[in-house]
Amino acid sequence: MASKILLIYTGGTIGMVQNHSTGALKPFDFKHLKNEVPELNRLAVTLETISFEQPIDSSNMHPIIWIKLAELIEQNYHSYDGFVILHGSDTMAYTASALSFMLENLGKPVIFTGSQLPIGIIRTDGKENLITAIEIASAHKNNLPLVPEVAIYFEYELFRGNRTLKYNAAHFDAFKSPNYPSLAEAGVNIEFKTNYISKKPKKKLIVHKELDNDIVVLHLFPGISKKITSSILKITGLKAVVLNTFGAGNAPTEKWFVDEIKQAIENNIIVYNVTQCLEGKVIQGKYETSSQLKKIGVISGEDITLEAAVTKLMYILALPVNIKKKKELLTKNLRGEISN
Ligand code: ASP
Repeated sequence: MASKILLIYTGGTIGMVQNHSTGALKPFDFKHLKNEVPELNRLAVTLETISFEQPIDSSNMHPIIWIKLAELIEQNYHSYDGFVILHGSDTMAYTASALSFMLENLGKPVIFTGSQLPIGIIRTDGKENLITAIEIASAHKNNLPLVPEVAIYFEYELFRGNRTLKYNAAHFDAFKSPNYPSLAEAGVNIEFKTNYISKKPKKKLIVHKELDNDIVVLHLFPGISKKITSSILKITGLKAVVLNTFGAGNAPTEKWFVDEIKQAIENNIIVYNVTQCLEGKVIQGKYETSSQLKKIGVISGEDITLEAAVTKLMYILALPVNIKKKKELLTKNLRGEISN
């Protein structure tokens, strides 16, 4: 039987067509998707579509919309074999990361894609991305989906969603997964790297619908001032800080800096050490410039991406558990987002 796929259009460049007289880009009506991409008629899938009433540029993405997306998947989970989410590429890695945490025990493909050029433009990368994403979402063997996880498909490669980042605003090849191999490559055939793809869990899907965004990212740079650091760490209501550090998780050893971080931790703020480097990992204690962080209770983000760190914090902060448990969960590999 043909797989049944639900295509959800949230917005972004992929769903735009050009007004031929003015040249302006505007979203097209997804009810007419097959007029724009007639090739879809030739796929052996049953395709149904839902479009956001007001499609958004993904720079306007928000945790409220992530919750809406998680609910859509929950409501349709048993009626479809897989999901394809069309999304602007700018924040796609954040949304994919967030959904990976929200959809615990996910057993069906949730494949994100988008494009750098609108689908209505002749040189678009959108058609290939869309068609292959649908093929991936519907791929199965022995009645089991080949990719039962949240992933991003872009320009011939499939990546784990919470390992991915957008690194190029100009090339079709816009995404990278620096610390985890690709899950599939689309050439003449789609080659699935089954060793790297999560196994379908036995447990039932649990959808987490609460996120807490009382967090901040503190990106370090040489010369960061005490005044600014101190006021950021004293923001009312702040619950967690992603400390975006140098190299293998290093930070200034100046006394004022360590004291400010220590004070924040004593005030029950979680401090999560994520490196500014795209490859490699945080190793607290490797250098003197990170030993003090370890000593005062900063939590190592290992090789997590910034996108996954931010969304993992939002997810964990909203869980009904105490701060000790939250800190413990942060160190755990929950959805394949870190390599430990
Ligand atoms: N600014 C657009 C967005 O992220 C770019 C894209 O669609 O790729 O929504």
